[in-house]
Amino acid sequence: MAVLDQLTSQQAIDLENKYGAHNYHPLPVVLSKGEGVYVWDVEGKKYYDFLSAYSAVNQGHCHPKIVGAMVNQAQTLTLTSRAFYNDMLGKYEKFATEYFGFDKLLPMNTGAEAVETALKICRKWAYEVKGIEENEAQIIVCKNNFHGRTTTIISFSNDPVARKNFGPFTDGFIKIEYDNLQALEEALENNDNIAGFMAEPIQGEAGVYVPSEGYLAAAKALCEKHNVLFIADEVQTGIARTGKLLAVNHEDVQPDILILGKALSGGAYPVSAVLANDSIMNVIRPGNHGSTFGGNPVAAAVAIAALEVVKEEKLAENAERLGKIFREELAEFAKENDLVILVRGKGLLNAVVINDTEDSSTAWDICMKLRDNGLLAKPTHGNIIRFAPPLVMNEEQLRDCISIIKNTISEFKK
Ligand SMILES: *Cc1c(COP(=O)(O)O)cnc(C)c1O
Repeated sequence: MAVLDQLTSQQAIDLENKYGAHNYHPLPVVLSKGEGVYVWDVEGKKYYDFLSAYSAVNQGHCHPKIVGAMVNQAQTLTLTSRAFYNDMLGKYEKFATEYFGFDKLLPMNTGAEAVETALKICRKWAYEVKGIEENEAQIIVCKNNFHGRTTTIISFSNDPVARKNFGPFTDGFIKIEYDNLQALEEALENNDNIAGFMAEPIQGEAGVYVPSEGYLAAAKALCEKHNVLFIADEVQTGIARTGKLLAVNHEDVQPDILILGKALSGGAYPVSAVLANDSIMNVIRPGNHGSTFGGNPVAAAVAIAALEVVKEEKLAENAERLGKIFREELAEFAKENDLVILVRGKGLLNAVVINDTEDSSTAWDICMKLRDNGLLAKPTHGNIIRFAPPLVMNEEQLRDCISIIKNTISEFKK
């Protein structure tokens, strides 16, 4: 078999199993093509994508404007490293800082790298601006967080599978309950060593937990009162996913440090970023931080195009409108179906909670049936199914998908 011969689904799965590390447990479907809200498997079967690569493909698969910008730039200049200037990075930084309302941007590639970057900036700010004694800074995070997979980030995860046998861990983090202002206030009181509070505006991986209304604004106010940086990890919730450009915009909160990734490139290329104002970002000086690929000209061209698409196609407004329809329809369905407990979410980041134990395979089995019926979704944390289609979906397609989901669950037998 030549390396690039067309494979059957089973052959592709067998190859990954034999030659790839087993660090994921994918749904058994092998995709070879995508366009807009659709993907196709190697046998030519067409599916609605209801995961969007964990909200990286908000702009739809292979968006022509984004791919066009990428191809064009790839044929011109791909990488210089930051040892030299390139003629795209500055344009992108101006565009993105004006777009999100910050003074400066630090470019990275993946979400986890951007989180690491934010933590480093926060600590350095704590020592050099706030005046915390060296090595004493602490950052508050939330229980059931998901911020990525590096050693420091898993140090403050409470997912045993993500942590077990990866120690020793990084110190300097305090974990509190999510959506609990009293817990935040207690952690901030009488502790002068707190540098920052980092949270997801909606906990995506944990199962799409939407905090109480007012939580983010009140948390930001508490941080201000205690001279602590509010760090918003919008890697999954940002870029129009929840019905606003950023999920913090629902409560008119401007974070001190904003972390973006995933849909910053529309899924075309790994692009992430940290944004902050000068009083914070200026603690970073040459040699403090970097990345060979961060801020490369292809990433810059792709991110500009991806962000333009969000505004040109009014993706936030579409997510807001379709999300309401999705939750209304599924909440109605939950009343008459014993398998569905509830639906929750914001915009087009939603989850359906299945009436079974967390270790049951029911949610997985439903996702297998959804696959058979032409819709791809994935369980998260046992009995929760996340539904997050590309934001370029139209109402007719959404209603078609709602029918598939209702019919599949209605016919489902344990
Ligand atoms: C996906 C995700 C990350 C990590 O991004 P990677 O690109 O996978 O490293 C960080 N934070 C949140 C909230 C995410 O959803």
